[in-house]
Amino acid sequence: MDEVRVPGTNTGHGHAWKRPDGMVYRCGGPRMCKKCAADAELVAAGKAAEQQAADDMLAHYSAALDEIYRLRCALVIEAKGVEADLRLKTFPKSRRRWAEDRIERMRAAARGESEQAYCERLAPAPGGLRTGVQELLIATGASPCLTRSQWEERDRG
Ligand SMILES: [Zn+2]
Repeated sequence: MDEVRVPGTNTGHGHAWKRPDGMVYRCGGPRMCKKCAADAELVAAGKAAEQQAADDMLAHYSAALDEIYRLRCALVIEAKGVEADLRLKTFPKSRRRWAEDRIERMRAAARGESEQAYCERLAPAPGGLRTGVQELLIATGASPCLTRSQWEERDRG
């Protein structure tokens, strides 16, 4: 019966991977020994899986950066729109300051300062309750949170 062999442990012959105990069998290694050849394949498959996982992670990370870039673009576009509205003679004076603040917040977020610009609105609600922003997200049809698995799930679709 074949023993279970696990890379990095004392189960191999010391050729496909270094055993913690330093033992190396005089079997000739992967080119001469079937067990070592199988172990070398096991190690190669593990490395390929690791590389695939790293590639997948990089793809998700790139997609997230692309999304952030698009959101920053959206913010400057919307800020420009509000700025154009402000030039309307009919724009209510009483709302002017709010609109100017909104423009500044959007532009700050586009510069990567969303945490500071929206800190009060993004603060977590006490007791695990939903915040106003989370309620808004739900009303918009968006998820009230964004976890890594949610992102990756969406990314696959
Ligand atoms: Zn061997």
